[in-house]
Amino acid sequence: LIEGTALNNLDKAQSASLYPCGRELLSFPEPLKLVVLGATGSIGRQTLEIVRENPNRFQVVALSCHGRVLELEHELTLLAAACPDSPTPLVAVTDAAARITASGMTGLSKYLLGHGPAALVEAVEAPDEVHVVVNGVVGAAGLEPTLAAARRGVRIALANKESLVVGGDLVRREILAHGAEILPVDSEHSAMAQCLSGRTESELHRLILTASGGPFRLTNAADLANVTLEEVLNHPTWNMGPKITVDSATLMNKGLEIIEAHHLFGVPYDRIDVLVHPGSYVHSFVEFVDGALLAQLGTPDMKLPIQYAINGEKHWPLSGGRLDLLQVGSLSFEKPDYERFPCLGLARQAGLAGGSATITLNGANEVAVAALLEHKIRYSDIPRIIEEVLSTESVGTVDSLPDALEFDSLARQAAEAVVARLA
Ligand code: MG
Repeated sequence: LIEGTALNNLDKAQSASLYPCGRELLSFPEPLKLVVLGATGSIGRQTLEIVRENPNRFQVVALSCHGRVLELEHELTLLAAACPDSPTPLVAVTDAAARITASGMTGLSKYLLGHGPAALVEAVEAPDEVHVVVNGVVGAAGLEPTLAAARRGVRIALANKESLVVGGDLVRREILAHGAEILPVDSEHSAMAQCLSGRTESELHRLILTASGGPFRLTNAADLANVTLEEVLNHPTWNMGPKITVDSATLMNKGLEIIEAHHLFGVPYDRIDVLVHPGSYVHSFVEFVDGALLAQLGTPDMKLPIQYAINGEKHWPLSGGRLDLLQVGSLSFEKPDYERFPCLGLARQAGLAGGSATITLNGANEVAVAALLEHKIRYSDIPRIIEEVLSTESVGTVDSLPDALEFDSLARQAAEAVVARLA
């Protein structure tokens, strides 16, 4: 896997920045028309809260959920109460059984889009007018709607890091071809974007991603073999969905964020570092060519990066806590432990190998995380599964969405086989 030199060169040749650093952002008239994908997840719900607090500035034209249709109906009710002048948005439900339920619900049936994952693409394409697509879908399923949004030439507020891990080069191609823009919602990448405001790419030298270290920062290697799912899901600083919470415990989340940062900011992997920062006060650093380090600090509130992205990088008023530096007192940093958290190294290696390797990494991880959440495997099996799949699957080039989906499917099959053996 790590010997993919030709692919590595290809990757370097293509490593132009995706993020519009130093470029003029798209501007839209108010109200901003939003598509909210993953509307019942953590990012989606908080986006809808921002909309409800600013009913004259935003209008939701489509939203999606996977299976939680009752929660989606609840969100629609809240939205209608807060924004009585806005028409009811179109609704995509991707889970087959949940869509059948939704088709029998009076509040949803009239607005329901088509079946399966294609409904996510439809949610982006069907509204008459779209300005911003907020992608809060979990996993590789977020790639196709990101590509559809890029083809529509709109602003993409991206929380779905897998879009870039699985299809970074494909997304870049569509963004450039259609004049779309991608603004990060992931808190670390938003922090970097905030530090890069008004700068140009030639000023940027290095990125430093901060990591909370997760719930097992202080757990020794022997005890990691016996941690429970409950302990895995108990994140010290951020309150998120189960998939990203597991990824935060294995540090795979930080690994995926290295790959995301590489694609977003066009910085080679050897200039993207990770620093464990247990307080999570500093959301990341940017180092400039003269050695100047800029950081963005704040409370762990995802509404800030969400509204910074959807508003086109403007700091808007936000109710909620403020970071009290006197209470914080001091900031501490530690070196990440690649031995106890092998997922971090596996992600870096896959990024360096380029081509399909990051798709394989992500597919294997998604299968392993699902298996952990279903109590089929142990926490410590996750890196084993990913490592085995990375070592058995060959690395190829990814020129199209079908290529990406094929590598994703092969990785999942291989990972399922390893899960079946371990379970
Ligand atoms: Mg993050």
